[in-house]
Amino acid sequence: MSTIFSKIVRGEIPCHKVAESEDYLAFLDINPLAKGHTLVIPKEETDYIFDLDDELLAGLMVFSKKVAKAIKARIACNRVGVTVIGLEVPHAHVHLVPINVMNDINFSKKKLEYTQEELAAIAADIGGFFRP
Ligand code: 5GP
Repeated sequence: MSTIFSKIVRGEIPCHKVAESEDYLAFLDINPLAKGHTLVIPKEETDYIFDLDDELLAGLMVFSKKVAKAIKARIACNRVGVTVIGLEVPHAHVHLVPINVMNDINFSKKKLEYTQEELAAIAADIGGFFRP
């Protein structure tokens, strides 16, 4: 069965896309911990990140680095935190979360709410600073 992220890759359900390459896709998390909270996935569906082959895993991190630089350019923060959880969606993904203090990346925290228009604007703003 396809994951929800594979459906996003195929355009069957919408996302607020930040950046894309042949192998990877970055889009805003639907329930963000912080403004600009972004998910980076390999388009090819694999559940557990450490089951990715070495090349795809390394490429995922390099692509995430480029996305993180774009986030840092547009969202005021000390760092872009990097987390892998994967308990909810069985499709490997990296969370990139703009943070100032440790609690900003606490996944138990109440999530932020943005309108679709706000999310579209955030994604376009960050995406405009993405350099492949
Ligand atoms: P994890 O699998 O890392 O525990 O959590 C999955 C993450 O994906 C959560 O932060 C959740 O908000 C996000 N998420 C789940 N479904 C969707 C979706 O349909 N679209 C988007 N953009 N994010 C999603």
